[in-house]
Amino acid sequence: MYATRFGKQFAASALALAVSWSVQAAGVTDDDLLKDQDTVDDVVTYGMGLQGQRYSPMNDLSTENVKQLQPVWAFSFGGEKQRGQESQPLVKDGVMYVSASYSRVYAIDAKTGEEIWQYDARLPDGIMPCCDVVNRGVALYGDKVIFGTLDAKLVALNKDTGKVVWIKKVADYQAGYSITAAPIIVKGKLITGVSGGEFGIVGKVEAYDPNTGEILWTRPTVEGHMGYVYKDGKKIENGISGGAPGKTWPGDMWKNGGAATWLGGTYDPETDSLFFGTGNPAPWNSHLRPGDNLFSSSRLAIDPDDGSIKWHFQTTPHDGWDYDGVNELVSFDLKENGKTIKAAATADRNGFMYVLNRENGDFIRGFPFVDKITWAKGLDENGRPIYAENGRPGDPADMKGEKGKVVVAQPAFLGGKNWMPVAYNPNTELFYVPSNEWSMDIWNEPVSYKKGAAYLGAGFTIKPAHDDYIGVLRAMDPKTGKEVWRYENTAPLWGGVMTTAGNLVFTGTPEGYFKAFDARTGKELYKFNTGTGIVGTPITWKMGGEQYVSITTGWGGAVPLWGGEVAKVVKDFNQGGTVWTFKLPNDNVASR
Ligand code: CA
Ligand code: CA
Repeated sequence: MYATRFGKQFAASALALAVSWSVQAAGVTDDDLLKDQDTVDDVVTYGMGLQGQRYSPMNDLSTENVKQLQPVWAFSFGGEKQRGQESQPLVKDGVMYVSASYSRVYAIDAKTGEEIWQYDARLPDGIMPCCDVVNRGVALYGDKVIFGTLDAKLVALNKDTGKVVWIKKVADYQAGYSITAAPIIVKGKLITGVSGGEFGIVGKVEAYDPNTGEILWTRPTVEGHMGYVYKDGKKIENGISGGAPGKTWPGDMWKNGGAATWLGGTYDPETDSLFFGTGNPAPWNSHLRPGDNLFSSSRLAIDPDDGSIKWHFQTTPHDGWDYDGVNELVSFDLKENGKTIKAAATADRNGFMYVLNRENGDFIRGFPFVDKITWAKGLDENGRPIYAENGRPGDPADMKGEKGKVVVAQPAFLGGKNWMPVAYNPNTELFYVPSNEWSMDIWNEPVSYKKGAAYLGAGFTIKPAHDDYIGVLRAMDPKTGKEVWRYENTAPLWGGVMTTAGNLVFTGTPEGYFKAFDARTGKELYKFNTGTGIVGTPITWKMGGEQYVSITTGWGGAVPLWGGEVAKVVKDFNQGGTVWTFKLPNDNVASR
């Protein structure tokens, strides 16, 4: 199959003018990346646009005709190893590039679903992914397909052959580092974060040359660690280290402070800022690290030229519940009181949604997007949480150094929202937030850092908050903080969301359904069972004049591994690993 396709491609190119061959060989440009949201015939960025709105201006598919959506092909990732498929595909020049569990990448003919090539990373036995062997997507640049692996490497492949162009080690997997997020490319630089916050790693954001894999700058995300720019073989300090090592961390705790940048980032060209979230401070036992523990559980605005931090906003200072602040910060125009504010919003694991001024990080407003929050009474005028008395798990030192007092906390540590991305629709001016309603019993225990070992100092059990549903897809109004509509789902929602100018919202469920909703009312308009749970993120693009929609399917992710009582609810869901692609039937297109 591979040989046939390559043969055809070669024959076609031999007949074509030299100029068109060179255009194809050039592949994805910086301009393609910047305009991605508006150009409907390709999807070349994670987020369907660097700002991460996951909005398509296409309206061929609408609330009227979406019920006729039909699958046109399904591609299996194959293999005995399946597990969670959290990837968002990309599409360029009729080829789909999609990653799968265990650091695999596929190129697929987007018209027929035929495989062009497959790449399997050779992973060592000792990898330490905390929360399943997932990968969330690739980046495209020039003639390269670039992604991160579970042993914390970046791999660049030739887009036509799948052959390795370069491999670069980003961090030491034996210390607990891995990469699960999709990298992004901004101003000719490949930008990546790292995973590993449960192993006492030090989070960082780094830029590499996408052509060679050479490092350009590094920005650690724990206060006290200095960042550097690499120029002409020299290492130059880049901007604030965030003050002295001891400022918001006691003693040497900053040396293994966590703040993993495990969900990657977005980019806003209007303010020329990278936005990265940071995970929990390490260890989870907060009594061992009095202070705010910057820059953990925060959003950072980073200069893409040198990695310096422009501003930070910390959602959970001195986190004690594993409320990672990694959730994507999505840029949007906030129109209110006759003004347009360059804003950005994020739905945090801690249960609050935040609207910030993306020029300076100023807090505009915050509000709960879940039914109940127990650990805080609310937010103050600066967006800092007002902690509830007795909301924090107790200090083991108060119990003669054994297990500390158990508290019930809601949301559970898997979050009001976890990794699964929101979507923003500029027509409805609403955010569509995949969320979950669950609580946990959590307690602290003594712990000390050991390389490559879990660094938690906490125990926990997650429980559903309601008998009949855990997942809630919500339409949230960033102006009022009000929920406009909701869809309740029995199992926890763990897949991403997409919205379109056709007034639609798409997502998938662990029960296996790919679903479409009316963006204004939340009315369910379409569902199709893919045969395994959905924890991936949909995309849409245009090919041959028709609107296509794709979603990766394959049950897994953190819920079955860490879900406690909730894991029992989902234990019978079957694994899988498939990309499904849909469009309207041909006769419907002809009649329109
Ligand atoms: Ca595009
Ligand atoms: Ca965490």
